[in-house]
Amino acid sequence: MTTEKNGFRVIVAGGGIAGLAMSHALQLANIDHVVLEAYGDVRSHVGASIGLWPNGIRVLEQMGCWKDIKNHCAPMVDSYNRLPDGRAISVSRLADMIKVRHGYDFVVLERQLVVSSLYDNLPDKSRILVNKRVSGVTETEDGVEVHTEDGAKYEGDIVVGCDGVNSTVRDIMWANANRAIPGYISAAEKRSLATTYACLIGFAPDMPGMSCGDCHTVHNQGFSFLVITQPGRTFFFVFIKLPKVIHWPDRPRFTAEDAEKEAAKLSNLPISDTVLFGELWQKRIRGQLIALEEVVFDHWHFGRIAILGDSAHKLTINLAFGGNSALESTAALVNKLNRELKANPNQKMSKETLSRIFEEYQELRKPRMKKVLNLAYQLTRLQAWDGWFMKFVQRFVIPWVGDERVADHFADLVKGGIKLDYVPLPNQPLGTVAWDDDPKKEASLPVSKKSSSLGLWALGLILSLNASYYLVSLLRSQYAVQPV
Ligand SMILES: Cc1cc2nc3c(=O)[nH]c(=O)nc-3n(C[C@H](O)[C@H](O)[C@H](O)COP(=O)(O)OP(=O)(O)OC[C@H]3O[C@@H](n4cnc5c(N)ncnc54)[C@H](O)[C@@H]3O)c2cc1C
Repeated sequence: MTTEKNGFRVIVAGGGIAGLAMSHALQLANIDHVVLEAYGDVRSHVGASIGLWPNGIRVLEQMGCWKDIKNHCAPMVDSYNRLPDGRAISVSRLADMIKVRHGYDFVVLERQLVVSSLYDNLPDKSRILVNKRVSGVTETEDGVEVHTEDGAKYEGDIVVGCDGVNSTVRDIMWANANRAIPGYISAAEKRSLATTYACLIGFAPDMPGMSCGDCHTVHNQGFSFLVITQPGRTFFFVFIKLPKVIHWPDRPRFTAEDAEKEAAKLSNLPISDTVLFGELWQKRIRGQLIALEEVVFDHWHFGRIAILGDSAHKLTINLAFGGNSALESTAALVNKLNRELKANPNQKMSKETLSRIFEEYQELRKPRMKKVLNLAYQLTRLQAWDGWFMKFVQRFVIPWVGDERVADHFADLVKGGIKLDYVPLPNQPLGTVAWDDDPKKEASLPVSKKSSSLGLWALGLILSLNASYYLVSLLRSQYAVQPV
């Protein structure tokens, strides 16, 4: 694989969802690259489930993965909202509303199946090298040298750090930036990586009394359960507020014993009309306690290094948007690289051009990711009744606003999704909401648009008010602690 005649080569650090998607996007654009993954098998990733929204599905369809993935998923049916005693206070058909608006389903499946599908459908798997933990990056005048822990060295034009929330490449980028321009990456930016919630995640087999394709959200004071049923799998999440917010460089780590302790506290609590959490935990196939970091960093590039996926933007998982966002960021960056390379096939890309491309990528993605982060942030706190305001909004305002308006609010986010602009998407199903990148914009407005303006406006106002509250408290918490 060569990049026209200019020999442009990308070194991708990390072979998770973002790294494998990068390989697809680069192979589809015929851009030379290698993916360096720290572990021995990209498909053996642990983890629980992943929800895919239509904006992520479009990109997976372009990569030839959607046909496999959809075979693993049963349609989502009812979404229940439940009080702490397990009583349902509402049931909606949110998944149907998403399908009406965008044509694609909202699906949930084991995360490993998505990663496997990304790997299995790669045209050239030799691009993925395993047991290659990136430990250093040296920038030269006309390229980069990437060093791995086994002593190997890989040369290229740029490095893309797809190495997750605790990114080594991001650490290197920060150090390079502050060496070149003292103070460029501030302590406040680093500390903006914050963990307020932890999550007990995992899955059990089918549970008697719970039907397939349902989603149960159980609200409690300071925590919430989310349980999603698929064939042979009952995925569970318990979102638990930590006693205090933890900022980078501190990082909460939880042991199996910590997970057992948290699960034991919750074992008598219902997650549906008939099932207690303890029953689910006892039957679990997999279960662990993880930190839920939240951040959208200010700087996504410096020199010849860019960061992408969880290394640049990390969300709580209630909105199920992190992986979908990694797919969008991949499309955004490779669209820009591809356009430049195809326009100048015989010219080596200068450092200035690279900086411009990276800056355009960041400016395209950052505002959208801040919006997504805010919505995920709200959802986590609403579901966990985090304070009286959140409880009031979840109990009374959202039911008043109505499910159709909530679906419209999500649709506003989904329709702005970014896909590969050099790969056709011939079979894209039509929905009632036009995609922002659809040149024809044939589809009509959201079904409920005419009747929804007051409800949508109220929801927007509440979320904006709360966003301002969030920003103020974040600033307060950043400046109330000792600087690093
Ligand atoms: C429990 C859970 C549920 C989730 N549910 C959803 C959901 O429903 N929908 C959704 O869209 N998102 C979901 N997410 C988020 C989603 O999984 C992430 O946003 C996504 O996986 C990010 O992909 P990534 O490739 O950026 O990072 P990661 O998946 O973290 O991958 C990083 C990769 O880099 C490798 N690596 C790390 N350091 C190095 C190094 N130094 N050198 C080389 N390789 C390295 C790692 O081994 C790993 O393979 C969920 C996350 C969790 C934890």
